[in-house]
Amino acid sequence: MSVIRTRFAPSPTGYLHLGGLRTALYAYLFARKNGGIFILRIEDTDQEREVPGAVDLIYHSMREAGLIYDEGPDVGGAYGPYIQTQRKDSYMPYALQLLESGAAYPCFCTKEELQQRRDAVTARGEQFKYDKHCLHIPKAEAKRRMESGEPYVIRQNVPETGVASFEDALFGHVEVPCDTLDDNVLIKADGMPTYNFANVVDDHLMAITHVMRGTEYLSSTPKYNLLYEALGWQAPIYVHLPVVMKDATRKLSKRYGDPSFEDLLAQGFLREAIINFIALLGWCPKEEREFFTLPELVEAFDLDGLSKSPAIFNMDKLVWFNSEYIKKMDFEEYLTMATPWFDKALAGKAMDYRRLAELMHSRTDVFSRVPDMVRFLAELPEYDTELYTHKKMKTDPVVSLQALKLARPALSMLPDFSEEALKNCLMELAAENGLKTGQMMWPVRVAISGLANTPGGATELGYLLGKQETLKRLDGAIAKLEA
Ligand code: GLU
Repeated sequence: MSVIRTRFAPSPTGYLHLGGLRTALYAYLFARKNGGIFILRIEDTDQEREVPGAVDLIYHSMREAGLIYDEGPDVGGAYGPYIQTQRKDSYMPYALQLLESGAAYPCFCTKEELQQRRDAVTARGEQFKYDKHCLHIPKAEAKRRMESGEPYVIRQNVPETGVASFEDALFGHVEVPCDTLDDNVLIKADGMPTYNFANVVDDHLMAITHVMRGTEYLSSTPKYNLLYEALGWQAPIYVHLPVVMKDATRKLSKRYGDPSFEDLLAQGFLREAIINFIALLGWCPKEEREFFTLPELVEAFDLDGLSKSPAIFNMDKLVWFNSEYIKKMDFEEYLTMATPWFDKALAGKAMDYRRLAELMHSRTDVFSRVPDMVRFLAELPEYDTELYTHKKMKTDPVVSLQALKLARPALSMLPDFSEEALKNCLMELAAENGLKTGQMMWPVRVAISGLANTPGGATELGYLLGKQETLKRLDGAIAKLEA
C-alpha cells in the first residue's frame, strides 16, 4: 500500500479554533500512527476573507500544539508550494480538461444578471441555484468570447438527473440527488480557483490518501467526487468529523466568544491538557483511559474510535484536565510558569515565590485564576467579622479578639519570622492561655488574609507576608473587632 498522507488545510481567516485544532490533531495522529506524512496546506484562495497575520498564527499554533508537519509552506516538501495562491497556475490545465470533456463550462453571466435572477427566484420563495444559462452557448461561440477577453468564470456542470455519492469512512454511503446541487464556480474571473476546485486538485496533486475535515463538507463532497471522476482520478478516503458543540444548541464558535487555542494558552491552560481533552472530543480509545500524552495518542488512535455524533465542549472538564496536568507537573516547571501570574498580583512585593508556589501547586487549576487567589497577599481584602465565627474551631469574634491581642505582642517579639518560629510561638501562646489550637490559628489566618480559604494557614501566610505586614494586619483586625 502507498504511504499514508494526510493534510490539515486551514483557511487563514483568524485564530485556530478548537474544532480546527481537533481536525488537525486527528489528521496528525492518523499519519503518525501509520508511519505516514502529515502536511499543512494554506487555503487562501478566498482572499477577501483572509486576515493579516493569520498564516503566521497557524504556524505558531501548530508548533505550540506539537503538531509538527512533514511538509508545509514554511518547511518545504516535494509537493509544494503549499499555499494555494502560490499554486494559481496549477489549476487552469485541469479546468481546461473539464471544459474539454463537458464536465465544466464557461459562464459569462455578470454579477448584476445573476443578482436579478437570484432576486426573482427568492421572491418566489425558492432557493436559487445557477440555471445553466451559459451551458447552452455553442462551444465555438464560448471559445471566441473567452479569447476576446470577456470576463468569465468556469462552472462545474453537475448532471441534472441521477445522484452523486461517495463513501465516507465514518458516515458510510453519502448520496445526494444531482438536481439539488448547484453548478459551483471552479475558477473565478481572475483565474483564481475556488475552494470547491482547489481542494480536489490539491488533494490529488499532493497525493493525499485520507482527507479529514468537518461535517460541513459532507454534503458538497459528492460534487467533489464528480470532479475526481471527470478527471479520471482516484478520490481519497474521506473522514468527515462531527462538529464540536458548545452545548446542545449551538456550535462552538469564535463569534460567541468561545476561546481559540491561543486564547486557552494565554489563559494558562497547558498545551498537553488541551490536546488530551481535544483528542477525546469525538474519539474514544479502546481501553478505558483518560490521560494521554501526544505520543500515547499516536499509539492509541484509530478511526474505529471516532464517533458520528456531535461532541460537546465541556469547559469544566477541560479545567479538570488542566488541574490534573498541573498537579503532575514538575515543581520547578510549575514555579517558572506560575511566576508571571504571581507577578500580576504581587509585582513589587518582596515575597518568597518558591514557598508560595509550594502552597499553590496543588490548588491551581488554570493559571489565569492564580492572581485572584494570591492578591490578598498584596492587599488585604474587605471582609466581614462574621468570618471569625467558626463552629469546628470553636471560635467567634469575641474569642478571636482575645487570641489576636495575645498574638500581636508575642509575634512582635519574634526575632525570626520563619514558619517554624511562628508555629511554635502561636501554639505555646494558645496552650499557656487555655485556647485550642484552632482558636488561635483561625483568627490569625483571617486577620492576615481576610479570607476563609487560603493557600496555607496562619504560619505560612505570616511567613510570606513578613513581620511588618503581619503585625500591621493584626493591628487592623484588633481595631476592627473592637469597633
Ligand atoms: N479550508 C477549509 C477550511 O478551513 C478546509 C476544508 C478541508 O479540509 O478540505 O474549512
